[in-house]
Amino acid sequence: MLTTGHNPSTALPPVRIRSIVAAPLFGESPKGGWSAEIRPEDSIHALIAVHTDAGITGYGSVFTDGRLVQAALKVLEPLFLGENALQPERVTEKLHQNTFWMGRGGTLTHTISGIDIALWDILGKATGLSVGSLLGGRYIERVRPYCSLLMEMPDRMHDVVAPYKARGFKAFKVGWGPFGRTNDAGLDRAIIAATRDALGPDVQLFVDPGASDAHWPQGLKWALRSAEMLADYQVGWFEEALKPDALEDFCTLRRASPVPIAGGEVLTRRQSFLPWLERGAFDIVQPDVTKVGGISEQRRIVWMAQDYGVRYVGHGWNTALGVAADLQLATAFPGVDLVEFIGGSPYVDGILREPFVLDADGMLPIPNKPGLGIELDPAGVARYTPDAEPFFAA
Ligand SMILES: [Mg+2]
Repeated sequence: MLTTGHNPSTALPPVRIRSIVAAPLFGESPKGGWSAEIRPEDSIHALIAVHTDAGITGYGSVFTDGRLVQAALKVLEPLFLGENALQPERVTEKLHQNTFWMGRGGTLTHTISGIDIALWDILGKATGLSVGSLLGGRYIERVRPYCSLLMEMPDRMHDVVAPYKARGFKAFKVGWGPFGRTNDAGLDRAIIAATRDALGPDVQLFVDPGASDAHWPQGLKWALRSAEMLADYQVGWFEEALKPDALEDFCTLRRASPVPIAGGEVLTRRQSFLPWLERGAFDIVQPDVTKVGGISEQRRIVWMAQDYGVRYVGHGWNTALGVAADLQLATAFPGVDLVEFIGGSPYVDGILREPFVLDADGMLPIPNKPGLGIELDPAGVARYTPDAEPFFAA
């Protein structure tokens, strides 16, 4: 073990943050199903690299426009430069506490999420431990990824799911698209019926209308009726069935719905989750580690959820680094059985030296190597960001 000459009580000498670089991703963001659909020239995902004076670099991921992330890094720079990268929770909390007046909960919080993920990666690399181990231990060695796909009209749903069923996925979520957007309950049912028919009876199916889309047209009555319909197709949860601030209606829906109610992907900061857990709004909570404040924040939310008897399923699918963080979080708590995995994103499938591969049971192994346990492919990253050189410059 290394010892420090500066402070005999510190087992590892500090690893100082030298710079933090964002790589905004462009060109092949998967369709969002949003009313204002994502274009190739839009950036909605970014990677983060935290470079240190010890030659260790940690990587993280942010779900927001990479150009906003770059601007946020300029604001945060005086707070992180020279900080000890081996202290993720303290450094992250410092960033949160000192940006209270600068738009907490928004882009700054999203950016801090990526920094925090990268700091945990560095702590793991410096100690030789996986992030899951650092969070307290590994409950599982593999987890079931559910494949997230956009809904289409009923006659298209077979083709939408077939390639991913062939790839070995045993659980699916379909969402957004026409579901709930046409005031046609018959169409909604037909989409779900076609999906269940394509998947067969033994595959898990979840449904996400995506009510955090702009100008979501439906309300509580639609959600209650739809929940009854979904039960006919053995749907495992109903996600974001109401506008993301409709706390009272979520509580009502959860009490009445025959299928579990999921949500929380647009909430940021641990404090925002308290009323939703206290009031009993969710059966399943889905914080996004690339927005919520990072691993440090998500860890606290998941333990809170555990104490309220609410299931946790991570939403950090935005890039391979988000998935890698979710895998480490999946093993660090009891009872986690699923992780979200978006179908067909080059930002997930195309930026790792060893891409994620399902095993014969449709499960993903959870890396037990130092840090996040994955390795970026610089050539892959360079395909989707204008200037990858400073991102990888040690
Ligand atoms: Mg969703």
